[in-house]
Amino acid sequence: MDTSGPWTRASGATGLLTDGIARPTVFARISARAAQTGAANLGQGFPDTDPPHKAAAAAIAAIRAGHNQYPPGAGEPVLREAIALHQQRRYGLDWDPAGEVLVTTGATEALAATVLALVEPGDEVVTLEPFYDQYAALIALAGGVHRTVPLRIAPGADGDLATTVDAAELRSAFGPRTRMVIVNSPHNPTGAVLDREVLVAIVEEAVRHDALIVTDEVYEHLTYGPAHVPIATLPGARERTVSISSAGKTFSVTGWKIGWVTAPSPLVTAITGTKQWLTYTSGAPFQHAVAVGLRMPDEAIAGIADDLRERRDLLVAGLRSVGFTVGVPEAGYFVVADTAGLGEPDAEALCERLPTEAGVAAIPLTAFYRPGSAESAAAGSLLRLAFCKDRPTIELALERLAGWSGR
Ligand SMILES: *Cc1c(COP(=O)(O)O)cnc(C)c1O
Repeated sequence: MDTSGPWTRASGATGLLTDGIARPTVFARISARAAQTGAANLGQGFPDTDPPHKAAAAAIAAIRAGHNQYPPGAGEPVLREAIALHQQRRYGLDWDPAGEVLVTTGATEALAATVLALVEPGDEVVTLEPFYDQYAALIALAGGVHRTVPLRIAPGADGDLATTVDAAELRSAFGPRTRMVIVNSPHNPTGAVLDREVLVAIVEEAVRHDALIVTDEVYEHLTYGPAHVPIATLPGARERTVSISSAGKTFSVTGWKIGWVTAPSPLVTAITGTKQWLTYTSGAPFQHAVAVGLRMPDEAIAGIADDLRERRDLLVAGLRSVGFTVGVPEAGYFVVADTAGLGEPDAEALCERLPTEAGVAAIPLTAFYRPGSAESAAAGSLLRLAFCKDRPTIELALERLAGWSGR
């Protein structure tokens, strides 16, 4: 996209704090290319499977029942109660639906309102690298300083890609100016579930430096190994933690954009103060439907994860047979694959070519790094492929990749 135009400043600047965030994302670009070329789109992480029937029926019923106007700013009471009940029942976390739960326009708005409300210019914000790309944009919008801790991706003893976080490196990212650490477990893009020792080290450093913990848990229910441990359940964490989740990934409804925040009331009050100027409120009928979804029995939600695990296994096995070195994700929507073994050391260039060359779309892992960082260079041959797609799409992509790799 050309960002120049009659509205841009004479200097060519767009008026945004950094030029980088004004460009369309690689996800938008590659999804558009996939649509143009008819490529099997394993790029952007949206499912092409249906949501649970019960939740979809509840959304239609809510529209018919007249839930079509602005919901209360904090969210429909029925959803705030369902969120509080869910946190209590699943994790033993008690939150008051009247002051400690805030419904947002997806986890995206929850993250935006949280960072904009709580980070002042010059404050340092710690994340892992690679990171969900919105974090860097939000830190820039708030005028914060982004500090990163490497989440290293390298072949382990079994030859598969494995992820590690070095505790000493993690601790050294914190300092007197640290205002916030953004934790993302299960992690996008790698599908890693952070070890308890890493979570404990984060809480200890946050306490030592009086920093806030913001935890993005949108993949909390999509785990294929160890169950998710919310960082807010660790000793000393609750009072300084903002927990964020969303219905989009759990229920395969990324277009509904219903997310939420749970946190102690002074934090929720501050975040609400910003949120009211972003969207104010949204998604009335979907809020009712998500309240129904969150009350579904645990087995129904586990069934969604089991189904995804099968598609993960399908994609992992297929990518291996094509010749990629792969990581087996413990959670989430994505597999990371290394293309170096196929004689393709530059994943960014490959992802630009793949839709036309192979009829498949994937995202280069460098999209989740700071441009030009040392860690980004080390990830130059890695791609991210989504398995939240239906089986025929995954099978078609694998067939095409097999044909392409035999060029
Ligand atoms: C998809 C995603 C989000 C955004 O969630 P929405 O509810 O769609 O706004 C936030 N964080 C991570 C890690 C994600 O993968």
